[in-house]
Amino acid sequence: MTQPDLSCSNPPHWRLAVIGAGPAGFYAVGELLKQQEIPVKVDLFDRLPTPYGLVRGGVAPDHQKIKNVCKIFDRIASQDHFRFFGNIEFGRDLTRKEMLEHYDAVLYTVGSRSDRRLGIPGEGLEGSHSATEFVGWYNSHPDYREKRFNLNSEQAVIIGMGNVAIDVARILSHRMEELRQTDISDQAFLALDSSRVRDIWVIGRRGPVQAAFTPVEARELMHLPDTEVELEADALNLDASSKKFLQEEAGKDTRKNIELLQGMLETPPRGMKKRLHLLFLASPVEILGKDGRVTGIKLRRNRLLEKPDGSMGAEATDQTFELQTGLIFRSVGYRGEPLPDVPFDDTSGTIPNEAGQILENGKRCPKEFAAGWIKRGPSGVVGTNKPDAIESVNRMLATLNASESEPLEKGEVPDILKLLQNKGAEVVSFSDWKLLEDYETKAGEAEGRPRKKVGTVEEMLEVIRDRRQD
Ligand code: NAP
Repeated sequence: MTQPDLSCSNPPHWRLAVIGAGPAGFYAVGELLKQQEIPVKVDLFDRLPTPYGLVRGGVAPDHQKIKNVCKIFDRIASQDHFRFFGNIEFGRDLTRKEMLEHYDAVLYTVGSRSDRRLGIPGEGLEGSHSATEFVGWYNSHPDYREKRFNLNSEQAVIIGMGNVAIDVARILSHRMEELRQTDISDQAFLALDSSRVRDIWVIGRRGPVQAAFTPVEARELMHLPDTEVELEADALNLDASSKKFLQEEAGKDTRKNIELLQGMLETPPRGMKKRLHLLFLASPVEILGKDGRVTGIKLRRNRLLEKPDGSMGAEATDQTFELQTGLIFRSVGYRGEPLPDVPFDDTSGTIPNEAGQILENGKRCPKEFAAGWIKRGPSGVVGTNKPDAIESVNRMLATLNASESEPLEKGEVPDILKLLQNKGAEVVSFSDWKLLEDYETKAGEAEGRPRKKVGTVEEMLEVIRDRRQD
């Protein structure tokens, strides 16, 4: 274990912990180390031996450019007064009480680990999955390695029209040559290579103007070499309110989406191997099954209805229809999970907070803060987490500055490293992670890929242990 012991130094520094090494965690660390107001030491924890959160485990393998942000995170991690504690899980290895005893302030940036459910009959049948599972599986996330998906089904149905739904649809639609050059998991590559999926349905409960995907992602669908996009002939016959919104209020992304959808609609069928159907104004009613397995999905048509707040809602009609399928993904948003002992709002799936400062029973916690999806909910792209993290860091600094307490380092407080060593935890430092990264990159190079990811925590630790000894 190569982690330095930073338990004492002069002048005393404020010891800060950030829990969760995804984008929000790294942006917060960067901001904390950049500021000049108070001297700080920052420890960044993650339950996995690997950093970068959803940039590693969520961003699609054919979106390698987005992963370049890791270079910024690496520069942040190379600074003095920073340590990474990988393979350390809050709640399992460290409690809230222990964190508060060892740190002057704690920032939770754990993201939204789970997913929202549809709440319809049949959701638990074999063949019905969350998009989160599929995304984790093709990205070699250790939590999802054992998952299996029925790629023998000729039709796949994805409920929801956000960017995650589009990612899933694109991965199911790709030609294998494109995926071969990525860091997709070997297991997923092999399974997709023999996939029989030909018709991929992406189902939005509202209309095209309300679709949650963004134009860059929509445009990519038009350039899939084996797949054509199909829309219903009347898909862009907008209702009066949507038309008015588009003309008077819509932002540039919505306008661009409509332009792209128009292009898709006008492209004549080309007889391609696969079809990606974007179906608007439909909601799932029931997942149908036989012998415990999905055999189809019952949907109902919706019409748009203007709500009192001016937004457009989906109102059910009595028209229903069914699609035969053995593979269904719900992609209706991620959801935060509670951390042991930490306040949690079950309705929103977030930690209650005021500008990033955690609220417990309505009162501000003097030493605890949150940033990223666990603070605001699962929205926005990687970069959205920067201003969000800055807001929380500013609140943390202002709170520390205004507090009458002094840095813990002024007293005799042991380093958290000692506590973890006493517990027998196996800490993965940032230099340890770099050994693993080097291993993955070299294994990838041999196959002309950016990296070949190691898929289980145990294998990751073995690779690191072997290389530490070299
Ligand atoms: P999202 O953008 O919030 O989309 C969720 C979708 O699910 C919406 O179409 C929503 O429809 C629909 N939905 C919600 N509840 C539903 C229900 N009960 N029945 C049917 N449909 C329902 O979520 P996401 O796709 O998980 O993405 C999360 C965030 O990550 C987003 O900010 C996204 O942009 C970002 N992301 C970005 C990229 C990228 O940049 N390439 C890739 C992946 C994810 P309504 O609009 O009607 O609520």
